[in-house]
Amino acid sequence: KRSLKVIKEGATGAHAKVFPPCMRDVMDELHVKKHLRHFKRYELNLFLKGIGLPLEEIFKVWRSAVFPHGAMGNYQNEHTYQLRHVFGLEGQMKEKFEHDCEKLIKTSQMEPHAAKCPFAMPLNQYRALNANDHRWKREISIDANQEIEMKVSRGDYKSACESYFSHKHKGEKMFNANVRYPTDFFDAGMEIEDW
Ligand code: SF4
Repeated sequence: KRSLKVIKEGATGAHAKVFPPCMRDVMDELHVKKHLRHFKRYELNLFLKGIGLPLEEIFKVWRSAVFPHGAMGNYQNEHTYQLRHVFGLEGQMKEKFEHDCEKLIKTSQMEPHAAKCPFAMPLNQYRALNANDHRWKREISIDANQEIEMKVSRGDYKSACESYFSHKHKGEKMFNANVRYPTDFFDAGMEIEDW
């Protein structure tokens, strides 16, 4: 229930800090554009399923973010099919499971419109991320960002994400020192924060 409330508020809400930057960017884009391209939509559905939301609740999240804002045309059908596919109710009837960070990164290297891990980018690209489009970036101090940049420059995306988490959650660490899944970030944040 708590997850649902937080997810409904979305990455724009007061609880945005529990979203890993990779998913926060996707959710922000959804709220701004009212649309996501296939790979981002797929990754977000896997993430929402991964944090334990049932299919009906994920539909509600989508409806609240997108459907009230005009005609959805084929998008609604396409979206419904993809979501049912993720739950193993269409196509080969095989349930899909969330991608770990490594798979997310590999997909983004092959597919320009997929969700991206900002910490796995080359340093110049990470630095060029605009804080208006990537709001998580403006929510940390200059010192914290420098520490993260150092890790990005070493190609240590897991440690950079861990540092980001720590700065967002009063120095706390994720339970799993090695970020493996975007849902680890979310789950650990939900455990720490006492809303
Ligand atoms: Fe997302 Fe993983 Fe990158 Fe963190 S390390 S931003 S959880 S893909």
